[in-house]
Amino acid sequence: MLPLREAFFFDTMSAHLPTSKYPRIVIIGAGFAGLRLAKKLANKSFQVVLIDRNNFHQIQPLFYQVATAGLAPSAISFPIRKVFHNAKNVIFRVASVEHIEADEKNF
Ligand SMILES: Cc1cc2nc3c(=O)[nH]c(=O)nc-3n(C[C@H](O)[C@H](O)[C@H](O)COP(=O)(O)OP(=O)(O)OC[C@H]3O[C@@H](n4cnc5c(N)ncnc54)[C@H](O)[C@@H]3O)c2cc1C
Repeated sequence: MLPLREAFFFDTMSAHLPTSKYPRIVIIGAGFAGLRLAKKLANKSFQVVLIDRNNFHQIQPLFYQVATAGLAPSAISFPIRKVFHNAKNVIFRVASVEHIEADEKNF
């Protein structure tokens, strides 16, 4: 997970990001940490771009219950977009980040 402020360049054309008057925060990874941070920033004065290689979040501590048939897989997994459907400032994109160029503020 990597939250950065507006200076972080993100290709708005290829990601189809709307322009915003607010600082942009890019969060890579919608795991426990990324999801929690994005929830905290929902409906605040930021444009939040949340990126994950999957379109779903999984509750990893409950993997064992699924493995032992105590829970259905759908009970520990949910679509990330659903979490933010009421948060106008959180934009979710499915993408796999391959590298980050910290000096250029690019990835
Ligand atoms: C089986 C199991 C049981 C666990 N039980 C417990 C427990 O009982 N208690 C506890 O405190 N912790 C437990 N943990 C650990 C806990 O799940 C992790 O500490 C926690 O998930 C870490 O959160 P995170 O946000 O750093 O990473 P993650 O939750 O792993 O999230 C990382 C996210 O980033 C995405 N991602 C990764 N690389 C890229 C990339 N290159 N591009 C785009 N997206 C990317 C992934 O798809 C993922 O959604 C358990 C873990 C496992 C696997």
